[in-house]
Amino acid sequence: MSATLATVSYIGATILFILSLGGLSNPESSRRGNLYGMIGMTIAVLATVFGPNVTAGGYAWIIGAMVVGASIGLYAARIVKMTQMPELVALMHSLVGIAAVLVGFANYIDPAAAGIFKGAEKTIHELEIYIGILIGAVTFSGSVIAFGKLSAKISGKPMLLPGRHWINLIGLLLVIGSGWSFINTHAVSEGMLPLIVMTVIALAFGIHMVMAIGGADMPVVISMLNSYSGWAAAATGFMLNNDLLIVTGALVGSSGAILSYIMCRAMNRHFIAVIAGGFGTGGGTPAVASGGAQPAGEVAPILAAATAELLREAKNVIIVPGYGMAVAQAQHSVYEITRFLRDKGVNVRFGIHPVAGRMPGHMNVLLAEAKVPYDIVFEMDELNEDFPDTDVAMVIGANDIVNPAAQDDPTSPIAGMPVLEVWKAKTSIMMKRSMASGYAGVDNPLFYKENNRMLFGDAKKMLDEVLVALKA
Ligand code: NDP
Repeated sequence: MSATLATVSYIGATILFILSLGGLSNPESSRRGNLYGMIGMTIAVLATVFGPNVTAGGYAWIIGAMVVGASIGLYAARIVKMTQMPELVALMHSLVGIAAVLVGFANYIDPAAAGIFKGAEKTIHELEIYIGILIGAVTFSGSVIAFGKLSAKISGKPMLLPGRHWINLIGLLLVIGSGWSFINTHAVSEGMLPLIVMTVIALAFGIHMVMAIGGADMPVVISMLNSYSGWAAAATGFMLNNDLLIVTGALVGSSGAILSYIMCRAMNRHFIAVIAGGFGTGGGTPAVASGGAQPAGEVAPILAAATAELLREAKNVIIVPGYGMAVAQAQHSVYEITRFLRDKGVNVRFGIHPVAGRMPGHMNVLLAEAKVPYDIVFEMDELNEDFPDTDVAMVIGANDIVNPAAQDDPTSPIAGMPVLEVWKAKTSIMMKRSMASGYAGVDNPLFYKENNRMLFGDAKKMLDEVLVALKA
């Protein structure tokens, strides 16, 4: 393939990536967006492999690597459950990070590059390598820890080392100092030491940064690491002189940064405060107060038949899905109930919290999979004011996102986070298996509210029972 054809293919792929991002911003056009992305990536890979930079001798290596990579990817995609998707995404980000580190080192020791760059060009080339490895190493180790936290292999509790801000500051100064000595060396053998010192510090910083972040802030961290992986890819593009990689990396980096901003707004948090860490504790523990007023009173359990009765008599119903719906794979049962109630003239709508589930858009994907019509799925801000006019608010496997302590208890670890105000409905029904807390590990006073009922059990099993009772 000639260089001109490769450039034209790269421009075509870039346009397809932009169209893909545009498509992915709306559930109705997301399939098309995915398709554009897939076509764009195929063109990009073909134009790179058959482009002018690959010699015939390299094909065997490239094909071998592609077969191994594609086999692992196919296997992982087949076995991963929907609830494990965020962990898989975190692992993928770590691969982008380690790739940037390896490309950086390879680029630095490449004998073909020795002596090519002189003066300012040499400084710029070395800066590209240094920054590329720095971002790649932080992305790699941070994503590995995020994977551990999301898969509950590492506690969600923030690890707050004494003097952690000082540790970070000293690390930053050492990275700047190593960078200075790196660009002032004249031989690869001299530059290796500062490069390795910086890599070790960056790896430690990635671990420290994500370990210090509490459960409730993980959504921001996921999108932030997504953004980092984009910048790591862009840095790799600079090192390899590949324009497409630079553009694609910048697209991922900037869209991840915008997503981080949206997530911060959804959680009512400042980005710097998130990085500083310490918000929320470990999840899955019994609901015991971790500060502030102890939730008091008894919970009122309800059975599936009585739930069906309440739904049958309701005119307005809002369903709030959360992580538990994904665990139970209850979205199809939710849809069956929705269809039944809508056929009977009940106004059923869905309220989606921006951080519901374990990844941005998690609930929208599940509801789309179950074919719930998009026009009854609303963002939190769009229907939060409608709860007082709602007969039944049905919470399916959600917890943190409907926790009134976020509004009422300034000492709560999630104080200030906007939540869906389900307790303002005439009756709220919490569908979950036990009294356990959610991901943020904080108690939920909603359980004890007078108008709240607890429907204990696996969400799918309970919804199926409700459906049977509704139809009876
Ligand atoms: P939560 O984690 O707060 O609550 C989920 C609830 O589902 C649990 O309390 C659990 O209770 C229940 N549950 C689990 N399995 C089942 C089941 N099979 N059937 C019925 N219920 C079940 O989830 P939310 O969606 O309310 O909130 C999301 C949380 O995750 C927030 O804290 C957010 O910050 C965090 N997060 C979000 C990310 C994102 O990008 N969206 C990324 C990372 C973290 P029980 O065990 O009693 O059944």
